[in-house]
Amino acid sequence: MDMLTIGAFARACRLSPKALRLYDELELLRPAWVDPHTGYRYYARGQLEQARLVAWLRRLGMPLARIREVCALEPAAAAGEIRAYWARVEAETAVRRDLAAFLVDHLTEDPRKDTTMLELRYFAHSDRGLVRPANQDTAYAGTRLLAVADGCGPAGALVSSAAVEALRFLDTEELPAGGVLNLLEDAVQGATEAVRDAADGADENGTTLTALLWTGSRLALVHIGDSRAYLLRDGELFRITHDHTVVQSLIDEGRLTEEEATTHPQRALLLKALGIGTPDLRLHDAAPGDRYLLCSDGLSGVVPDARIRQILTTGTPDAAVQALVDSANEAGGPDNVSCVVADVVREAS
Ligand code: MN
Repeated sequence: MDMLTIGAFARACRLSPKALRLYDELELLRPAWVDPHTGYRYYARGQLEQARLVAWLRRLGMPLARIREVCALEPAAAAGEIRAYWARVEAETAVRRDLAAFLVDHLTEDPRKDTTMLELRYFAHSDRGLVRPANQDTAYAGTRLLAVADGCGPAGALVSSAAVEALRFLDTEELPAGGVLNLLEDAVQGATEAVRDAADGADENGTTLTALLWTGSRLALVHIGDSRAYLLRDGELFRITHDHTVVQSLIDEGRLTEEEATTHPQRALLLKALGIGTPDLRLHDAAPGDRYLLCSDGLSGVVPDARIRQILTTGTPDAAVQALVDSANEAGGPDNVSCVVADVVREAS
């Protein structure tokens, strides 16, 4: 066999002997042969490609365990793994980008903002649907707080209502000036503890939480799980939350299309829930005429976005909520369905 000393191999693949010794110790690239007497490492010429691949994957920032997996794969499968790895990095970066945007928004005042006082007109309703024996969703709307929680497990109903109940204080208390970040942190902490108590130590009990807190000119969003928030602005519908589901992560990694996801058997499997993982935080500048929708997956799972947009385009918040719930039930009502619709309007003087 055509063997190279570690020095010759290092020159050929333009890596240092030190790097090669490290790859060996990390079990990323084992020498083809180690002299049992001298301990010298020897490499086969055929390992050159592998050595370069390891070097590049390390430059990419891929964790060592993942590099080991990739190196063991055929080229096509290895390519798929790298694509999936990078998609995950981008998804995680997007979460950090949103957090950065949240902080920038929090620390800056929009100069275009007019000083007219705004307020919310809102309506909330939760429906059992046509199939489930009980309603485990909780929907709430008040002058400052809008929330939807979708509970699961034997104590699902208890858990989702405990989460929302723990946020209710936000609706009545005066917001401390400039204290929104702290307030949200406290609120999430409180809701998490309330859920832990209500779940009574049983892992299968949990809940999503998607909530908007009105600050007088902005809406602070807290979101974890697969309930959703949408914004209807100038007739266009924007989804402003990202589902924390296994299926969404497969879509993000390019392993599944949106189309395939709608019928995926595990589409309800959550990656995060209250107390498991960190919630997403966003701040939205409110404009008169904006309409926000919070809903559980009992709506978004069966009613397409185009239809949701159409329904939201007309009517009062209560008429819109009723029409959305009806359309979920017309589609079979397979799950509990909860909707909160809130309009941003100029304060009646
Ligand atoms: Mn649900």
